[in-house]
Amino acid sequence: MENSLLKHLTLNQRQIYDDSNHLTIDLDFSLIHYLCKKNMSTFLFNEVVFGPVNSRRLGVSLGMNLLPVNRKICSFDCIYCECGLNGELGDSKGLMPTREEVMQALDTKLKDMFKDNLKPDVITFAGNGEPTLHPEFKGIIDDTIELRNQHCPKARIAVLSNASRLHKPDVVEALLKVDDNIQKLDSGLKETILRLDQPNCPFDLNATIKQLAEFNGQVIIQTMFVAGEANGQVINNNTKEDIKAWLLALEQIKPQKVMIYTIERDTPYNSLKKVPLEELKAIAKIVEDKGFTISVSG
Ligand code: SF4
Repeated sequence: MENSLLKHLTLNQRQIYDDSNHLTIDLDFSLIHYLCKKNMSTFLFNEVVFGPVNSRRLGVSLGMNLLPVNRKICSFDCIYCECGLNGELGDSKGLMPTREEVMQALDTKLKDMFKDNLKPDVITFAGNGEPTLHPEFKGIIDDTIELRNQHCPKARIAVLSNASRLHKPDVVEALLKVDDNIQKLDSGLKETILRLDQPNCPFDLNATIKQLAEFNGQVIIQTMFVAGEANGQVINNNTKEDIKAWLLALEQIKPQKVMIYTIERDTPYNSLKKVPLEELKAIAKIVEDKGFTISVSG
């Protein structure tokens, strides 16, 4: 990593970086992947704006964490979540940053980067949970667009979301304004999603698929493939039934792109396994044959 980039990492992030021995970082979907590169247990981001990190695919990337810096808050509780299970880590009293604090943090980070002649290629909303749960999500997206347009108009804005808040018109309105609206759909079968993602909100798969379709193609679908066992149940969203139902959902949604990937490092359950790259490629081939654009990260 270039020294100028390394300088912007916190001590915690530097430690992860120093131990990783990865000078080239392939950041596929979020900064989470980079920060967990080391074989470590689940963890929380300790900043509102984290990075930048250098990604072969995305370039210089800044991460935005709208959740508390010391607590995960999510409407799902995915068994593979790299931030751990809900309530497992951190301080249960942790507060979300205010809209003003988020923008101040972004403004400061951008100005620090400019001093080193660095500009982000992408600003990614991810962090310690579901970003759209922030009550001021829409305003924060507006502010981010304004700062981006002012300082680094070529940078993309990406949101990684679990699609649990698409019944909220203000959330949808904000997602339609970003460059990469990346939404989770881990299976076409409700019972698989309940096992994998453990929603802690009312979950209606048909309604979710309909809401995703209402983006009229302005959406990227991200799907985590994972196998193993958790909570005494077999975990596998790569069964024939799952794939068939998932393809039907994709045909309804008509996303601009599909991203598939598998676990890369520690998850809350040691009993979970990666899905081999060959299997991911086989899934990708079926998706491609249906006419969709797909990326694979194994
Ligand atoms: S939706 Fe994302 S943040 Fe929430 S539990 Fe799942 S992986 Fe973790």
